[in-house]
Amino acid sequence: MTRSIAIVGSGPGGIYCAEALNKRLPEARIDVIDRLPVPYGLVRAGVAPDHQGTKAITRVFDRILQKPGIRFCGNVSVGRDVGFAELQAAYDAVVLATGAHVDRRLGIPGEALAGVHGSAAFVFWYNGHADFAATPVDLSAVASVAVIGNGNVAIDVARVLAKTADEMAKSDLADHAATAIRAAAVKDIHLIGRRGPVEASFTNAELAELGRLQRTVPLVDAADLPASVGEVEESQRKVKEANLATLRAFAANRPGEKPVRLHFHFHATPVALLGEGRVAGVRLARGGRQFDLPAELVVTCIGYGVGAALDLPSDAARGTFANQAGRVAPRLYAVGWAKRGPSGVIATNRADSFAVADLILADLAQSGDPPRPGPAALDELLQARGVRVVGFADWLKIDAAERAAALSGAPRRKIVERAAMLALLQ
Ligand code: NAP
Repeated sequence: MTRSIAIVGSGPGGIYCAEALNKRLPEARIDVIDRLPVPYGLVRAGVAPDHQGTKAITRVFDRILQKPGIRFCGNVSVGRDVGFAELQAAYDAVVLATGAHVDRRLGIPGEALAGVHGSAAFVFWYNGHADFAATPVDLSAVASVAVIGNGNVAIDVARVLAKTADEMAKSDLADHAATAIRAAAVKDIHLIGRRGPVEASFTNAELAELGRLQRTVPLVDAADLPASVGEVEESQRKVKEANLATLRAFAANRPGEKPVRLHFHFHATPVALLGEGRVAGVRLARGGRQFDLPAELVVTCIGYGVGAALDLPSDAARGTFANQAGRVAPRLYAVGWAKRGPSGVIATNRADSFAVADLILADLAQSGDPPRPGPAALDELLQARGVRVVGFADWLKIDAAERAAALSGAPRRKIVERAAMLALLQ
């Protein structure tokens, strides 16, 4: 009895789920569906363009997608090209690996001003995600930037804006973003955390990297730094102590050392974004008083949720589809950020997706349902609708074209528009 499973989303959660299902049940037919013609979700469009080491995991993902029994079905949008109900009718199980890409909101006045962006939109913009290339990011009159949040995404955003063109030469920053960032006259970047340095969720490699930038000097007020990390979870002690040591070193820096200043503001809660039509500043509350910082660009890096995707019930607090250990409904599952919320690193998804795969296979083993048609049914629907499915061999052509177009030192020159990707495949 050949079972078929559709995985919606080809980011790390989805790919590891495909790997697990294929390992455990090699005869199963697994379709990994993505609305973009290119795979790998946040590895391509979320991981910072200057962190190519992290992106090297795509070599492993390429091997997984080539395993017998696994298909990549790119350029297929569930909800547009194939109905969600149609997908559920076609496959024995459906896995939501769609990530969590709806920016959380601060819920303060001024969030709708031009020049205010959530990190999902901003990161997708600079990473050349087809649906976000047109995000109205205007850096032409930006001297001061406020990056709100004290996690690794906030560091990524600050660093991408802080680096010189030379420092980004070996990255795959999208052309439109490189042009805008190169032309901008950013002088001050404010990294704003509502809690203290010990509570910040930076990892130390990311924090320490800010001390090695060519044109940007990180600045910390020594008075904000406690003498020790105090009581923290034992598993967190090492990173917290390393972060405190790094911040202490930053506190010895002087503002004039480099042309761009990166200011750390701790215990500073945003209460309003200021400006008329376009953002001009951020009002912060700290210890019973308020103060304003100028900011012609504000990027909120405060987490994500799944939003109202596919009309499924969500768990708003966690930012996930409502699920129990990955089980959303009979024959419907979630993995990755869609399951557990926006946390962890790429590797976190492997064990998590393997656990959900075990759950799926246990449920299927108990099911008395006859096998469903799976890929054959999907192919029929898509063919009838004239959808150009981008398979793995097609992806390799897009990949090769991007690599061939790379400027010296860069790994690739990203093709952004869907139409341009599809044109390569004719
Ligand atoms: P995160 O680590 O959860 O950080 C979110 C930040 O937003 C926290 O500092 C949080 O403060 C703050 N925040 C939330 N609501 C806020 C509000 N209303 N006002 C002010 N601040 C608010 O999440 P992330 O940075 O988005 O990263 C997501 C995941 O991806 C993390 O697991 C991260 O490690 C991972 N990631 C890893 C890398 C890497 O390894 N290089 C790079 C990027 C992302 P509180 O703590 O006070 O809530």
